[in-house]
Amino acid sequence: MSGAVNEKELIGTGLKKRTEEALANDFLRKAVAFTTDKLKTGRLGAMETFGNWEEWRERGKQIRKHVVENLDYYLTQFTDNVSKAGGNVIFCQSGEEAVRTFLNIAEERKAKLVAKGKSMVSEEIHLNHHLEERGIEAIETDLGEYILQLAKETPSHLIIPAIHKNKQQIADIFAEESGEPMVPETRVLADYAKTRLRNYFLEADIGLTGCNFGVAESGAITLVSNEGNGRMVTTIPKCHVVIMGMERLVPTYDDLEVVLNLLARSATGQKLTTYTSMITGPRREGELDGPEELHLIILDNGRSAQLGDPVFQDVLHCIRCAACLNVCPVYRHVGGHTYGSVYSGPIGAVLTPLLQQDMKEAGQLSYASSLCGACYEACPVKIPLHDMLVQLRARKVKLGLTPLAERMAFKTFRTTFGNVTLYKMATKSAYYAMKPFVSKGYIKKAPGPGAGWTQSRFLPMKPKMSFRDRWEALQRELKQQGQDGAKAAKKGGERHE
Ligand code: SF4
Repeated sequence: MSGAVNEKELIGTGLKKRTEEALANDFLRKAVAFTTDKLKTGRLGAMETFGNWEEWRERGKQIRKHVVENLDYYLTQFTDNVSKAGGNVIFCQSGEEAVRTFLNIAEERKAKLVAKGKSMVSEEIHLNHHLEERGIEAIETDLGEYILQLAKETPSHLIIPAIHKNKQQIADIFAEESGEPMVPETRVLADYAKTRLRNYFLEADIGLTGCNFGVAESGAITLVSNEGNGRMVTTIPKCHVVIMGMERLVPTYDDLEVVLNLLARSATGQKLTTYTSMITGPRREGELDGPEELHLIILDNGRSAQLGDPVFQDVLHCIRCAACLNVCPVYRHVGGHTYGSVYSGPIGAVLTPLLQQDMKEAGQLSYASSLCGACYEACPVKIPLHDMLVQLRARKVKLGLTPLAERMAFKTFRTTFGNVTLYKMATKSAYYAMKPFVSKGYIKKAPGPGAGWTQSRFLPMKPKMSFRDRWEALQRELKQQGQDGAKAAKKGGERHE
Protein backbone atom coordinates (compact mmCIF):
# COMPACT_ATOMS: atom_id res chain seq x y z
CA MET A 1 0.00 0.00 0.00
CA SER A 2 1.43 3.33 -0.97
CA GLY A 3 -0.03 5.10 1.99
CA ALA A 4 -0.89 8.11 -0.08
CA VAL A 5 -4.61 8.29 -0.60
CA ASN A 6 -5.60 9.98 -3.79
CA GLU A 7 -8.06 12.66 -2.72
CA LYS A 8 -10.09 12.05 -5.85
CA GLU A 9 -10.41 8.32 -5.16
CA LEU A 10 -13.99 7.62 -4.20
CA ILE A 11 -14.20 6.68 -0.54
CA GLY A 12 -16.68 3.83 -0.83
CA THR A 13 -15.68 2.49 -4.24
CA GLY A 14 -12.02 2.30 -3.31
CA LEU A 15 -12.64 0.90 0.18
CA LYS A 16 -12.43 -2.79 -0.74
CA LYS A 17 -9.24 -2.33 -2.76
CA ARG A 18 -7.58 -0.29 -0.02
CA THR A 19 -8.62 -2.85 2.60
CA GLU A 20 -7.14 -5.73 0.62
CA GLU A 21 -3.90 -3.81 0.13
CA ALA A 22 -3.66 -2.99 3.84
CA LEU A 23 -4.38 -6.58 4.87
CA ALA A 24 -1.63 -7.80 2.57
CA ASN A 25 0.84 -5.34 4.12
CA ASP A 26 2.29 -7.19 7.13
CA PHE A 27 4.54 -4.30 8.08
CA LEU A 28 1.68 -1.82 8.25
CA ARG A 29 -0.46 -4.18 10.31
CA LYS A 30 2.33 -4.84 12.81
CA ALA A 31 3.28 -1.14 13.06
CA VAL A 32 -0.30 0.00 13.64
CA ALA A 33 -1.02 -2.81 16.13
CA PHE A 34 2.22 -2.10 18.04
CA THR A 35 1.57 1.62 18.51
CA THR A 36 -2.16 1.35 19.16
CA ASP A 37 -1.39 -1.33 21.79
CA LYS A 38 1.03 1.05 23.51
CA LEU A 39 -1.51 3.88 23.44
CA LYS A 40 -4.25 1.58 24.69
CA THR A 41 -2.13 0.31 27.59
CA GLY A 42 -1.16 3.89 28.46
CA ARG A 43 -4.81 4.91 28.51
CA LEU A 44 -5.82 2.02 30.77
CA GLY A 45 -2.98 2.84 33.18
CA ALA A 46 -3.93 6.53 33.25
CA MET A 47 -7.57 5.67 33.90
CA GLU A 48 -6.63 3.44 36.80
CA THR A 49 -4.39 5.97 38.51
CA PHE A 50 -7.02 8.66 37.98
CA GLY A 51 -9.47 6.79 40.17
CA ASN A 52 -13.11 7.61 39.51
CA TRP A 53 -12.78 7.53 35.73
CA GLU A 54 -16.47 6.90 35.05
CA GLU A 55 -17.44 10.03 36.98
CA TRP A 56 -14.97 12.13 34.97
CA ARG A 57 -16.21 10.53 31.78
CA GLU A 58 -19.78 11.45 32.66
CA ARG A 59 -18.69 15.02 33.47
CA GLY A 60 -16.93 15.22 30.12
CA LYS A 61 -20.03 14.02 28.35
CA GLN A 62 -22.26 16.53 30.16
CA ILE A 63 -19.91 19.44 29.36
CA ARG A 64 -19.78 18.61 25.67
CA LYS A 65 -23.52 17.93 25.53
CA HIS A 66 -24.30 21.25 27.21
CA VAL A 67 -22.06 23.15 24.77
CA VAL A 68 -23.49 21.49 21.69
CA GLU A 69 -27.06 22.00 22.89
CA ASN A 70 -26.31 25.70 23.44
CA LEU A 71 -23.83 26.21 20.66
CA ASP A 72 -25.31 29.50 19.43
CA TYR A 73 -24.92 31.02 22.91
CA TYR A 74 -21.36 29.84 23.47
CA LEU A 75 -20.21 30.71 19.96
CA THR A 76 -21.45 34.26 20.47
CA GLN A 77 -19.78 34.54 23.87
CA PHE A 78 -16.53 33.06 22.58
CA THR A 79 -16.28 35.15 19.43
CA ASP A 80 -17.24 38.36 21.30
CA ASN A 81 -14.36 37.70 23.66
CA VAL A 82 -11.94 36.91 20.83
CA SER A 83 -12.91 40.19 19.15
CA LYS A 84 -12.56 42.14 22.42
CA ALA A 85 -9.04 40.72 22.75
CA GLY A 86 -8.18 42.05 19.29
CA GLY A 87 -8.78 38.94 17.16
CA ASN A 88 -10.58 38.97 13.83
CA VAL A 89 -13.35 36.32 13.65
CA ILE A 90 -14.62 34.91 10.36
CA PHE A 91 -17.38 32.29 10.09
CA CYS A 92 -17.20 29.98 7.08
CA GLN A 93 -20.05 27.79 5.98
CA SER A 94 -18.07 25.47 3.75
CA GLY A 95 -14.54 24.20 3.23
CA GLU A 96 -14.28 26.19 0.00
CA GLU A 97 -15.19 29.37 1.85
CA ALA A 98 -12.57 28.68 4.52
CA VAL A 99 -9.92 28.07 1.87
CA ARG A 100 -10.88 31.32 0.07
CA THR A 101 -10.73 33.21 3.36
CA PHE A 102 -7.29 31.89 4.17
CA LEU A 103 -6.00 32.62 0.68
CA ASN A 104 -7.29 36.20 0.94
CA ILE A 105 -5.48 36.69 4.24
CA ALA A 106 -2.30 35.22 2.73
CA GLU A 107 -2.46 37.18 -0.50
CA GLU A 108 -3.23 40.50 1.22
CA ARG A 109 -0.02 39.99 3.18
CA LYS A 110 1.89 38.77 0.11
CA ALA A 111 2.70 35.64 2.10
CA LYS A 112 5.06 33.14 0.53
CA LEU A 113 5.58 30.78 3.44
CA VAL A 114 3.09 29.36 5.96
CA ALA A 115 4.34 27.42 9.01
CA LYS A 116 1.65 25.01 10.14
CA GLY A 117 1.02 23.50 13.53
CA LYS A 118 -1.12 20.38 13.67
CA SER A 119 -4.61 21.04 12.36
CA MET A 120 -7.03 18.30 11.33
CA VAL A 121 -9.50 20.92 10.08
CA SER A 122 -6.92 22.23 7.59
CA GLU A 123 -6.53 18.61 6.42
CA GLU A 124 -10.32 18.36 6.17
CA ILE A 125 -10.43 21.28 3.73
CA HIS A 126 -7.24 20.17 1.89
CA LEU A 127 -5.66 23.56 2.51
CA ASN A 128 -2.08 22.58 1.58
CA HIS A 129 -3.20 21.54 -1.86
CA HIS A 130 -4.88 24.92 -2.47
CA LEU A 131 -1.89 26.85 -1.14
CA GLU A 132 0.42 24.94 -3.43
CA GLU A 133 -1.79 25.85 -6.39
CA ARG A 134 -1.35 29.52 -5.50
CA GLY A 135 2.40 29.18 -5.17
CA ILE A 136 2.37 29.54 -1.37
CA GLU A 137 4.61 27.10 0.46
CA ALA A 138 3.03 25.45 3.51
CA ILE A 139 5.36 23.58 5.85
CA GLU A 140 4.05 21.13 8.41
CA THR A 141 6.02 21.62 11.62
CA ASP A 142 4.53 18.82 13.71
CA LEU A 143 7.12 16.05 13.34
CA GLY A 144 4.68 13.35 12.21
CA GLU A 145 2.99 15.70 9.76
CA TYR A 146 6.38 16.88 8.46
CA ILE A 147 7.42 13.30 7.74
CA LEU A 148 4.16 12.68 5.88
CA GLN A 149 4.43 15.91 3.93
CA LEU A 150 7.86 14.84 2.66
CA ALA A 151 6.46 11.38 1.87
CA LYS A 152 3.45 13.01 0.12
CA GLU A 153 1.02 11.13 2.35
CA THR A 154 -1.98 12.04 4.46
CA PRO A 155 -2.25 11.35 8.24
CA SER A 156 -3.27 7.82 9.14
CA HIS A 157 -4.13 8.52 12.79
CA LEU A 158 -5.69 11.50 14.56
CA ILE A 159 -2.81 12.09 16.97
CA ILE A 160 0.05 9.93 15.59
CA PRO A 161 -0.18 10.82 11.92
CA ALA A 162 2.83 8.70 10.88
CA ILE A 163 1.78 5.66 12.93
CA HIS A 164 2.48 3.37 9.97
CA LYS A 165 6.15 4.31 9.59
CA ASN A 166 9.25 2.99 11.36
CA LYS A 167 12.60 4.69 11.99
CA GLN A 168 14.22 3.21 8.91
CA GLN A 169 11.45 4.49 6.66
CA ILE A 170 11.68 7.94 8.24
CA ALA A 171 15.48 7.92 7.84
CA ASP A 172 15.03 7.06 4.15
CA ILE A 173 12.60 9.95 3.70
CA PHE A 174 14.97 12.41 5.40
CA ALA A 175 17.95 11.03 3.45
CA GLU A 176 16.12 11.62 0.20
CA GLU A 177 15.29 15.17 1.21
CA SER A 178 18.76 16.05 2.44
CA GLY A 179 20.72 14.06 -0.11
CA GLU A 180 22.81 12.72 2.80
CA PRO A 181 22.78 9.27 4.42
CA MET A 182 20.71 9.23 7.61
CA VAL A 183 21.10 6.94 10.64
CA PRO A 184 17.74 5.50 11.73
CA GLU A 185 18.05 6.69 15.34
CA THR A 186 15.43 8.80 17.09
CA ARG A 187 17.88 11.47 18.21
CA VAL A 188 19.46 11.86 14.78
CA LEU A 189 16.08 12.04 13.06
CA ALA A 190 14.66 14.52 15.58
CA ASP A 191 17.78 16.71 15.32
CA TYR A 192 17.55 16.75 11.55
CA ALA A 193 13.87 17.77 11.63
CA LYS A 194 14.54 20.43 14.29
CA THR A 195 17.35 22.02 12.27
CA ARG A 196 15.31 22.04 9.08
CA LEU A 197 12.19 23.43 10.74
CA ARG A 198 13.91 26.17 12.72
CA ASN A 199 14.43 28.32 9.63
CA TYR A 200 10.84 27.90 8.57
CA PHE A 201 9.61 29.26 11.92
CA LEU A 202 11.86 32.27 11.52
CA GLU A 203 10.97 32.95 7.91
CA ALA A 204 7.25 32.19 7.86
CA ASP A 205 4.86 35.01 6.99
CA ILE A 206 1.92 33.26 8.63
CA GLY A 207 1.60 30.73 11.44
CA LEU A 208 -1.39 28.44 11.09
CA THR A 209 -2.83 26.23 13.83
CA GLY A 210 -5.98 24.40 14.76
CA CYS A 211 -7.69 24.81 18.12
CA ASN A 212 -8.27 22.00 20.60
CA PHE A 213 -10.75 24.00 22.65
CA GLY A 214 -12.00 27.56 22.64
CA VAL A 215 -12.87 28.83 26.12
CA ALA A 216 -16.09 30.83 25.80
CA GLU A 217 -15.73 32.84 29.01
CA SER A 218 -12.42 34.38 27.92
CA GLY A 219 -12.00 33.83 24.19
CA ALA A 220 -8.83 31.78 24.82
CA ILE A 221 -7.72 29.44 22.07
CA THR A 222 -6.29 26.32 23.69
CA LEU A 223 -3.66 24.23 21.94
CA VAL A 224 -2.21 21.02 23.32
CA SER A 225 0.92 19.43 21.93
CA ASN A 226 3.85 17.27 22.86
CA GLU A 227 6.22 19.22 20.63
CA GLY A 228 7.34 22.82 20.95
CA ASN A 229 6.34 23.66 17.39
CA GLY A 230 2.91 24.98 18.40
CA ARG A 231 4.46 27.77 20.45
CA MET A 232 6.92 28.68 17.67
CA VAL A 233 4.16 28.86 15.07
CA THR A 234 1.95 31.01 17.27
CA THR A 235 4.58 33.44 18.48
CA ILE A 236 7.19 34.03 15.75
CA PRO A 237 5.29 34.85 12.52
CA LYS A 238 3.64 38.26 12.43
CA CYS A 239 0.27 36.80 11.55
CA HIS A 240 -1.43 33.86 13.27
CA VAL A 241 -4.44 32.18 11.67
CA VAL A 242 -6.49 29.63 13.62
CA ILE A 243 -8.89 27.26 11.86
CA MET A 244 -11.32 25.49 14.17
CA GLY A 245 -14.46 23.40 13.91
CA MET A 246 -17.45 25.36 15.22
CA GLU A 247 -18.20 22.84 17.99
CA ARG A 248 -14.81 22.84 19.73
CA LEU A 249 -15.82 24.98 22.72
CA VAL A 250 -16.04 24.70 26.48
CA PRO A 251 -17.88 27.27 28.60
CA THR A 252 -15.27 27.89 31.33
CA TYR A 253 -11.73 27.15 32.48
CA ASP A 254 -13.17 24.68 35.02
CA ASP A 255 -14.71 22.76 32.14
CA LEU A 256 -11.44 23.00 30.25
CA GLU A 257 -9.70 21.27 33.15
CA VAL A 258 -12.05 18.30 32.81
CA VAL A 259 -11.74 17.88 29.05
CA LEU A 260 -7.96 18.39 29.02
CA ASN A 261 -7.60 15.65 31.64
CA LEU A 262 -9.81 13.34 29.61
CA LEU A 263 -8.05 14.21 26.36
CA ALA A 264 -4.47 13.61 27.47
CA ARG A 265 -5.27 10.43 29.36
CA SER A 266 -7.38 8.98 26.57
CA ALA A 267 -4.99 9.96 23.79
CA THR A 268 -1.57 8.97 25.10
CA GLY A 269 -2.01 7.98 28.75
CA GLN A 270 -0.30 11.21 29.88
CA LYS A 271 -1.61 13.23 32.82
CA LEU A 272 -1.35 16.30 30.65
CA THR A 273 0.23 16.91 27.28
CA THR A 274 3.69 18.50 27.46
CA TYR A 275 2.59 21.92 26.21
CA THR A 276 -0.78 23.47 26.91
CA SER A 277 -0.98 26.95 25.37
CA MET A 278 -3.80 29.43 25.76
CA ILE A 279 -3.81 32.31 23.35
CA THR A 280 -6.07 35.28 23.90
CA GLY A 281 -5.75 37.78 21.09
CA PRO A 282 -2.64 39.02 19.28
CA ARG A 283 0.37 40.64 20.96
CA ARG A 284 -0.57 43.57 23.18
CA GLU A 285 1.42 46.69 23.78
CA GLY A 286 4.43 46.01 25.94
CA GLU A 287 4.42 42.25 25.25
CA LEU A 288 7.67 40.80 23.96
CA ASP A 289 6.35 38.16 21.60
CA GLY A 290 3.25 37.02 19.81
CA PRO A 291 1.79 37.85 16.42
CA GLU A 292 0.65 41.31 15.38
CA GLU A 293 -2.59 39.90 13.98
CA LEU A 294 -4.79 36.99 14.95
CA HIS A 295 -7.48 35.68 12.63
CA LEU A 296 -9.92 32.99 13.72
CA ILE A 297 -11.69 31.02 11.00
CA ILE A 298 -14.64 29.08 12.45
CA LEU A 299 -15.75 26.31 10.16
CA ASP A 300 -19.16 24.71 9.82
CA ASN A 301 -18.66 22.39 6.81
CA GLY A 302 -21.56 20.04 7.61
CA ARG A 303 -21.42 20.31 11.41
CA SER A 304 -24.54 22.44 11.91
CA ALA A 305 -26.54 19.90 9.87
CA GLN A 306 -26.14 17.50 12.82
CA LEU A 307 -27.58 19.95 15.34
CA GLY A 308 -31.03 18.83 16.40
CA ASP A 309 -30.57 15.37 14.91
CA PRO A 310 -31.78 12.92 17.58
CA VAL A 311 -29.23 10.29 16.55
CA PHE A 312 -26.18 12.12 15.26
CA GLN A 313 -25.95 15.38 17.23
CA ASP A 314 -23.76 13.65 19.82
CA VAL A 315 -21.00 13.11 17.28
CA LEU A 316 -20.21 16.80 17.78
CA HIS A 317 -19.14 15.98 21.36
CA CYS A 318 -15.92 14.41 20.03
CA ILE A 319 -12.67 15.78 21.48
CA ARG A 320 -10.47 14.02 18.87
CA CYS A 321 -8.51 11.90 21.34
CA ALA A 322 -8.31 8.86 19.00
CA ALA A 323 -9.01 6.35 21.79
CA CYS A 324 -11.71 4.79 19.60
CA LEU A 325 -9.17 4.18 16.81
CA ASN A 326 -6.74 2.45 19.15
CA VAL A 327 -9.27 -0.14 20.30
CA CYS A 328 -11.10 -0.69 17.01
CA PRO A 329 -10.39 -4.18 15.60
CA VAL A 330 -10.94 -2.87 12.08
CA TYR A 331 -8.66 0.18 12.38
CA ARG A 332 -5.98 -1.93 14.08
CA HIS A 333 -5.89 -4.29 11.09
CA VAL A 334 -5.96 -1.81 8.24
CA GLY A 335 -4.73 1.57 9.55
CA GLY A 336 -6.06 5.00 8.69
CA HIS A 337 -5.40 5.36 4.95
CA THR A 338 -7.83 2.57 4.18
CA TYR A 339 -10.72 4.81 5.18
CA GLY A 340 -9.83 7.25 2.39
CA SER A 341 -10.80 10.14 4.63
CA VAL A 342 -8.90 12.55 6.87
CA TYR A 343 -10.89 11.15 9.79
CA SER A 344 -10.37 7.42 10.21
CA GLY A 345 -11.41 4.71 12.67
CA PRO A 346 -14.89 4.56 14.20
CA ILE A 347 -15.19 8.35 14.58
CA GLY A 348 -14.12 8.77 10.95
CA ALA A 349 -16.64 6.17 9.77
CA VAL A 350 -19.41 8.21 11.42
CA LEU A 351 -18.12 11.73 10.88
CA THR A 352 -17.08 11.48 7.24
CA PRO A 353 -20.50 10.66 5.70
CA LEU A 354 -22.18 13.20 7.98
CA LEU A 355 -19.80 16.07 7.21
CA GLN A 356 -19.68 15.28 3.52
CA GLN A 357 -23.45 14.63 3.50
CA ASP A 358 -22.72 11.72 1.23
CA MET A 359 -24.32 8.42 2.10
CA LYS A 360 -23.57 6.77 -1.23
CA GLU A 361 -19.77 6.84 -1.17
CA ALA A 362 -18.70 7.97 2.29
CA GLY A 363 -21.64 6.05 3.80
CA GLN A 364 -19.82 2.83 2.85
CA LEU A 365 -17.51 3.49 5.82
CA SER A 366 -20.32 2.51 8.18
CA TYR A 367 -19.56 -1.10 7.21
CA ALA A 368 -15.93 -0.74 8.35
CA SER A 369 -16.91 -1.89 11.82
CA SER A 370 -17.59 -5.11 13.69
CA LEU A 371 -20.10 -3.20 15.89
CA CYS A 372 -18.36 -4.68 18.95
CA GLY A 373 -18.84 -1.46 20.92
CA ALA A 374 -15.18 -1.16 22.02
CA CYS A 375 -15.18 2.41 20.65
CA TYR A 376 -17.98 3.42 23.00
CA GLU A 377 -16.24 1.82 25.98
CA ALA A 378 -13.06 3.77 25.22
CA CYS A 379 -14.65 7.11 24.39
CA PRO A 380 -14.01 9.65 27.18
CA VAL A 381 -17.21 11.53 26.35
CA LYS A 382 -19.36 8.42 25.82
CA ILE A 383 -20.31 8.84 22.15
CA PRO A 384 -22.31 5.75 21.11
CA LEU A 385 -20.43 5.31 17.84
CA HIS A 386 -21.54 1.69 17.35
CA ASP A 387 -25.21 2.71 17.50
CA MET A 388 -24.55 5.53 15.05
CA LEU A 389 -22.89 3.11 12.63
CA VAL A 390 -26.01 0.92 12.68
CA GLN A 391 -28.18 4.00 12.11
CA LEU A 392 -26.00 5.05 9.16
CA ARG A 393 -26.47 1.61 7.63
CA ALA A 394 -30.23 1.94 8.16
CA ARG A 395 -30.12 5.34 6.46
CA LYS A 396 -28.37 3.80 3.47
CA VAL A 397 -31.08 1.13 3.24
CA LYS A 398 -33.88 3.71 3.52
CA LEU A 399 -32.31 5.78 0.75
CA GLY A 400 -32.15 2.67 -1.46
CA LEU A 401 -28.36 2.94 -1.70
CA THR A 402 -27.54 -0.70 -1.01
CA PRO A 403 -26.78 -2.98 -4.02
CA LEU A 404 -29.73 -4.65 -5.75
CA ALA A 405 -28.40 -8.15 -4.94
CA GLU A 406 -28.22 -7.24 -1.24
CA ARG A 407 -31.75 -5.86 -1.24
CA MET A 408 -33.05 -9.01 -2.96
CA ALA A 409 -31.14 -11.24 -0.54
CA PHE A 410 -32.64 -9.50 2.50
CA LYS A 411 -36.12 -9.59 0.97
CA THR A 412 -35.80 -13.35 0.46
CA PHE A 413 -34.39 -13.71 3.96
CA ARG A 414 -37.34 -11.80 5.46
CA THR A 415 -39.93 -13.84 3.52
CA THR A 416 -38.28 -17.16 4.40
CA PHE A 417 -37.74 -16.42 8.08
CA GLY A 418 -41.27 -15.03 8.42
CA ASN A 419 -42.92 -18.28 7.31
CA VAL A 420 -42.47 -21.57 9.22
CA THR A 421 -42.99 -23.86 6.22
CA LEU A 422 -40.58 -21.89 4.04
CA TYR A 423 -38.08 -21.72 6.90
CA LYS A 424 -38.17 -25.51 7.35
CA MET A 425 -37.80 -26.10 3.63
CA ALA A 426 -34.90 -23.64 3.40
CA THR A 427 -32.95 -25.08 6.32
CA LYS A 428 -33.43 -28.62 4.98
CA SER A 429 -32.34 -27.77 1.46
CA ALA A 430 -29.32 -25.75 2.75
CA TYR A 431 -27.67 -29.06 3.72
CA TYR A 432 -27.95 -30.44 0.19
CA ALA A 433 -26.93 -27.11 -1.38
CA MET A 434 -23.74 -26.99 0.70
CA LYS A 435 -22.79 -30.66 0.31
CA PRO A 436 -20.93 -30.45 -3.06
CA PHE A 437 -18.53 -27.84 -1.65
CA VAL A 438 -17.72 -29.55 1.66
CA SER A 439 -14.45 -31.20 2.54
CA LYS A 440 -13.86 -32.73 6.00
CA GLY A 441 -16.88 -30.95 7.48
CA TYR A 442 -16.04 -27.46 6.18
CA ILE A 443 -16.47 -25.32 3.08
CA LYS A 444 -13.05 -23.89 2.44
CA LYS A 445 -13.88 -22.03 -0.77
CA ALA A 446 -17.47 -20.92 -1.11
CA PRO A 447 -18.80 -19.98 -4.53
CA GLY A 448 -20.46 -16.67 -5.52
CA PRO A 449 -21.22 -14.09 -2.85
CA GLY A 450 -20.12 -16.53 -0.11
CA ALA A 451 -16.51 -16.36 -1.39
CA GLY A 452 -15.71 -13.32 0.76
CA TRP A 453 -16.67 -15.22 3.92
CA THR A 454 -14.29 -18.12 3.26
CA GLN A 455 -11.40 -15.88 2.25
CA SER A 456 -10.20 -15.73 5.83
CA ARG A 457 -12.07 -18.57 7.60
CA PHE A 458 -13.78 -21.90 6.92
CA LEU A 459 -17.54 -22.25 6.93
CA PRO A 460 -18.69 -25.27 8.98
CA MET A 461 -21.05 -27.67 7.20
CA LYS A 462 -24.64 -27.39 8.28
CA PRO A 463 -25.65 -30.60 10.13
CA LYS A 464 -28.06 -32.83 8.28
CA MET A 465 -30.60 -32.48 11.06
CA SER A 466 -31.40 -29.06 12.42
CA PHE A 467 -31.71 -28.48 16.15
CA ARG A 468 -35.47 -28.23 15.70
CA ASP A 469 -35.59 -31.63 13.89
CA ARG A 470 -33.44 -33.25 16.55
CA TRP A 471 -35.60 -31.77 19.28
CA GLU A 472 -38.80 -33.04 17.67
CA ALA A 473 -37.22 -36.50 17.13
CA LEU A 474 -36.15 -36.57 20.79
CA GLN A 475 -39.65 -35.62 21.91
CA ARG A 476 -41.13 -38.39 19.74
CA GLU A 477 -38.64 -40.89 21.14
CA LEU A 478 -39.40 -39.89 24.73
CA LYS A 479 -43.12 -40.08 24.08
CA GLN A 480 -42.69 -43.50 22.52
CA GLN A 481 -40.62 -44.68 25.49
CA GLY A 482 -43.32 -43.38 27.81
CA GLN A 483 -46.02 -45.21 25.89
CA ASP A 484 -43.94 -48.43 25.76
CA GLY A 485 -43.31 -48.18 29.50
CA ALA A 486 -47.00 -47.70 30.21
CA LYS A 487 -47.91 -50.67 28.03
CA ALA A 488 -45.31 -52.88 29.73
CA ALA A 489 -46.56 -51.80 33.15
CA LYS A 490 -50.13 -52.55 32.14
CA LYS A 491 -49.17 -56.01 30.85
CA GLY A 492 -47.22 -56.75 34.02
CA GLY A 493 -50.23 -55.71 36.10
CA GLU A 494 -52.61 -58.03 34.15
CA ARG A 495 -50.26 -61.01 34.63
CA HIS A 496 -50.14 -60.28 38.33
CA GLU A 497 -53.93 -60.37 38.53
S1 SF4 B 1 -15.27 9.57 19.33
FE1 SF4 B 1 -14.65 9.60 21.47
S2 SF4 B 1 -12.90 8.17 21.51
FE2 SF4 B 1 -13.20 8.72 19.34
S3 SF4 B 1 -11.86 10.45 18.98
FE3 SF4 B 1 -13.86 11.29 19.55
S4 SF4 B 1 -13.75 11.58 21.77
FE4 SF4 B 1 -12.06 10.25 21.22
